Amino acid sequence: MNSLAKLDIKYLRGVGPKRSELLAKELDIHTYYDLLYYFPFRYVDRSTVHRISDLQGDMPYIQLRGRFLAFTPQGEGARRRLNALFTDGTGTIEVVWFNRVKAIQESYRTGVEYVIFGKPQLFKNHYSIAHPEVDLYNPSAGPAGLQGVYNLTDKLRNRSFTSRSISKLVETLLEMPVVSNIKDTLPGWLLSKRKLMPLAESLVNIHRPTDVASLQRAQFRLKYEELFFLQLNILRYVKSRNDKLPGMVFSRVGSYFMDFYNNHLQFSLTGAQKRVIKEIRADLGSGRQMNRLLQGDVGSGKTIVAFMTMLLAIDNGFQACIMAPTEILATQHYRTISEMAGAIGVSVALLTGSTRKKERDSIHERLTNGELQILVGTHALIEDTVQFRNLALAVIDEQHRFGVAQRAKLWRKNTVAPHVLVMTATPIPRTLAMTVYGDLDVSVIDELPPGRKPVNTYLRYEEDHEKVYRFVGGELKKGRQAYIVYPLIEESEKSDLKALEEGYELIKETFPHYNVCYVHGRMKPAEKDYQMGLFVSGKAQILVATTVIEVGVNVPNASVMLIENAERFGLSQLHQLRGRVGRGADQSYCILMSKYQLSRDTRHRLEVMTQTSDGFVVAEEDMRLRGPGDLEGTQQSGIPINLRIASLATDGQILQLARDDAEDVLTADPELSSADGAALDRELRFLFDKNVNWSRIS
Ligand code: ADP
Ligand code: MG
Repeated sequence: MNSLAKLDIKYLRGVGPKRSELLAKELDIHTYYDLLYYFPFRYVDRSTVHRISDLQGDMPYIQLRGRFLAFTPQGEGARRRLNALFTDGTGTIEVVWFNRVKAIQESYRTGVEYVIFGKPQLFKNHYSIAHPEVDLYNPSAGPAGLQGVYNLTDKLRNRSFTSRSISKLVETLLEMPVVSNIKDTLPGWLLSKRKLMPLAESLVNIHRPTDVASLQRAQFRLKYEELFFLQLNILRYVKSRNDKLPGMVFSRVGSYFMDFYNNHLQFSLTGAQKRVIKEIRADLGSGRQMNRLLQGDVGSGKTIVAFMTMLLAIDNGFQACIMAPTEILATQHYRTISEMAGAIGVSVALLTGSTRKKERDSIHERLTNGELQILVGTHALIEDTVQFRNLALAVIDEQHRFGVAQRAKLWRKNTVAPHVLVMTATPIPRTLAMTVYGDLDVSVIDELPPGRKPVNTYLRYEEDHEKVYRFVGGELKKGRQAYIVYPLIEESEKSDLKALEEGYELIKETFPHYNVCYVHGRMKPAEKDYQMGLFVSGKAQILVATTVIEVGVNVPNASVMLIENAERFGLSQLHQLRGRVGRGADQSYCILMSKYQLSRDTRHRLEVMTQTSDGFVVAEEDMRLRGPGDLEGTQQSGIPINLRIASLATDGQILQLARDDAEDVLTADPELSSADGAALDRELRFLFDKNVNWSRIS
């Protein structure tokens, strides 16, 4: 395999220096290996030959067999094109080329039998095909069967590179002995256990399938292989880290924890919360550093889990901190946590960018002498000047706003790296979590506290505005508060900002008896906090905002979330926004305002919102619609998920098999030192050394 990656694509027959430059730049194909692993993205069935007289309605790509009757160049300069009339004896069809007119006219002849392949377009009762693939008819060749279609860029198309050009290069490659002699990358026992098609055969079939069944087996094999090595790599890294990084041991459950649990907990924990606390306790007693991701839908009660975990640290004589992405959230946590901590005599302080110097100095001092037990803050608390006496646990809330590097900084806050608990409300589908966070252990709170009413969600159109406002007015009259959200996709979008400002004016006019406040991402932090503060304290009843409120804000009295131009938001964004309401005991409402004309996907997206309030269903649906690379939160995770053939959205089952097998392999041969293991190790190095440095990702 590695030897193919050493062969420069320019030496392949039919490529040469010019085309190799194009292939490298446009498709990232530099070597024989890259070309061999450039798979078709779909296949067309070329086993049927259509008759021109049978064409009707909107036709897919089809194949015709016949002769050109005449070629007629038309137009001049840029408008030059070549028309040809093609017949198969049952009728005629027009064939058109818009570029390479001269070359084409010279290469095809009238009277000779060809097979042409393309998509017929119906225009004024007549079909025509533009830029078909044209091959001499070869009676002894048999039916062409399935043919791969390759993705191209516009630039390649302009240089008359077609999917067919790629096919031809691949065919040349497939006939070379270096390819047919490729050694399998997977051990024989795995091939037979999972009934996998051998590698060399799969590579042939993925490009040139003999039939549908072989294509499917080849796809399965290559997807499996891709996911297997991905998992093997992650798991091996986890293992080496667990071996290397010791963690502080929290051996006892002490009096702070017990006092709080028995005397001050305002509610009983849900089953899911109890289970998660148990999982965390097991980590903390293991002697290894914990790196755990805690997932729980908005409102599922992650804060209390974090707090009780912190008490475990304190009971064992250590300090703990919790870090939030914004000042508003940090302040909110501080309020909740100091109330609970105060009841049991645990000391807490808040440190943010706007903490005054005097207060900051005092915090620094109390941190180093150990007087302060819990520090709540923004990223201000990871600055080097902040030193702890004995930090043993760092909780990170709403993780996707934090970079990997910032997390790593936390590790250095003590001689033994503190345990890390990352909390996120962005529900990450299981398959994605296994891949992106494969090195973090995952706990899930999959149960909401009792008595929560699901938020009623409605889709309404622009002409319903008046009615909707009347409804909002009704809620305000009952003493509730409302969010009204406008899209602001990019900070630079002036028109969005204008819509937001106009919206603000309109809302003030519509609700003259209420106070309206206003936030967007371009405001100065202090101004933003001031405006948010008006809403949180209840001084303002309506908050007009952009998605800046998406994360974590908790105003239980708010019962309406009205989202303007909802069609412009992504699913998980809508779900996060909806999570801002339904936090109190009252029935809450989420109203999605949209224009009436919607694409199918967009309508589906909005309907998903009205049909489910389950964050995981929303996330799975989101991944299906948009693909995993696009999923919010994953871009910032710093892990390129660049899969050639497998899809995290649809190949979850294969991923599970691959993960199970990778685990088995490592259990039997942790160092990959057996003969089979060494081969896997070589492949891992080949695949990942140039790509991702997993050791830098916590
Ligand atoms: P999130 O997971 O979104 O961070 P929070 O931790 O802010 O959720 O919890 C949301 C609300 O639910 C808080 O007011 C909290 O006190 C309450 N809560 C948490 N756990 C329970 C429970 N087991 N029973 C009742 N209420 C709970
Ligand atoms: Mg929270």
